[in-house]
Amino acid sequence: MDRRYWDEELETAPWPEVEAWQAGHVVHFLDGLRSRSAFHKDRVDSAARPAGTPRSLELLADLPFTTKDELRRSQDEQVAGEPFGRHQAVPLSEIVQVVSSSGTTGDPLYYALTAADLELWRQVIAAVFYTAGIRAGDVVAHLVGLPGVAGGLPYADGFRTLGATLAWLGGFPTERILRSFPRLQVSAVLSTASFGTYLTDHCEEVIGEPAASLGVAKFLGGGEPGFGQREIRDKVRAGWALDHVREVMGLADVLSAVWGECDDESGMHFCAQRGVAVELIDPTTGQQLSWREGASGEVVYTTFAREATPMLRYRSSDHVVVTGVECRCGRTSPKIRCIGRTDDMLIVRGVNVFPSAIREVVSAFAPRVSGNILLRPAAPGAKQDPPLRVAVELAPGSGGDASLAGAIGERVRAVLVVQVSVELVPWGSLQRSEYKSKLVQH
Ligand SMILES: [Zn+2]
Repeated sequence: MDRRYWDEELETAPWPEVEAWQAGHVVHFLDGLRSRSAFHKDRVDSAARPAGTPRSLELLADLPFTTKDELRRSQDEQVAGEPFGRHQAVPLSEIVQVVSSSGTTGDPLYYALTAADLELWRQVIAAVFYTAGIRAGDVVAHLVGLPGVAGGLPYADGFRTLGATLAWLGGFPTERILRSFPRLQVSAVLSTASFGTYLTDHCEEVIGEPAASLGVAKFLGGGEPGFGQREIRDKVRAGWALDHVREVMGLADVLSAVWGECDDESGMHFCAQRGVAVELIDPTTGQQLSWREGASGEVVYTTFAREATPMLRYRSSDHVVVTGVECRCGRTSPKIRCIGRTDDMLIVRGVNVFPSAIREVVSAFAPRVSGNILLRPAAPGAKQDPPLRVAVELAPGSGGDASLAGAIGERVRAVLVVQVSVELVPWGSLQRSEYKSKLVQH
């Protein structure tokens, strides 16, 4: 029997009720944190406590944020018995697994799971993949090659919890991966958006057969923005001859999958109701924003059920746009698209610019361009003077001329209100990544 939801009660309850239920857990979480973690105790004690019985996540508004730099310093202290940092909140004897951040933005950080944390992760990740349309009976090619990162073993556990057949092919050579698809009757693929795009572009060259002949019906991408863009999605659809392309998103620091895209294909639903409270904030002022269609801001997470390395108002650096708060699928949680990392954000004459947004505008010039771009800002840091230099890769066999470069520059200026200078570069000259694309080179 194919039920519609992984956890119907939580996924379909009115959102204010979900937040009220979570708020109750957050209150207990805060009390517990004070006794379990020196790192958090000072921070909770120094904040004003809300009066009365809070029934919404506004109760978090006066508490301090946690940033990755603070966690890094906490972990760097290396107190005996606390390898994960002063925010480690249980003894080592209760920890059963280590999860590493990908390290794409500095040295990796390590997080820990107790047995209860691990069970919660499995349930939430299963809910994310269920929302994204994976079912028992699917043979899922899991193409993340590193077990220790958030998208590695935790995703494998999520697929198995859901009842799908896990085919962990990540880490094998690309040719072997692709040849395994028909052999194992793979019906669904999970990869980073970069690698998914890479496979789509190179399948025929690698195995001599088009991706469309391999029989894959569902393609899931995550780990970075990309599959949310129409051009990339259309390319994957056409290349594999399938309709089902979905996005998932999460982070090692909090839970490796918390957002999953439903059948409506209009954004990713929040799926971690049972263990994570989510806020949207203005990244400049830190003020809470309401989940309203069209709102945009940074996502902040509080892991109110986490035992080993709990997070209080963790600033994700993920900048999102709310694409809906009601959905035809019946789920009640907010829906978002991620438009970039606040760390990648550049500010040109007061205008915030995300590299992925520039890529989206440039991609509309396909088939003349490949869709790969690289921003080369002239100055270090976020603030830049115009024009912003952008290398745009041409499609195979496509010749570029000044009129194409000019047209791209005009379109970027019209859509994003930023002046760029476009340099067209030949097909294959921008570096490809099998894990996550780098869009900015300082
Ligand atoms: Zn939906």
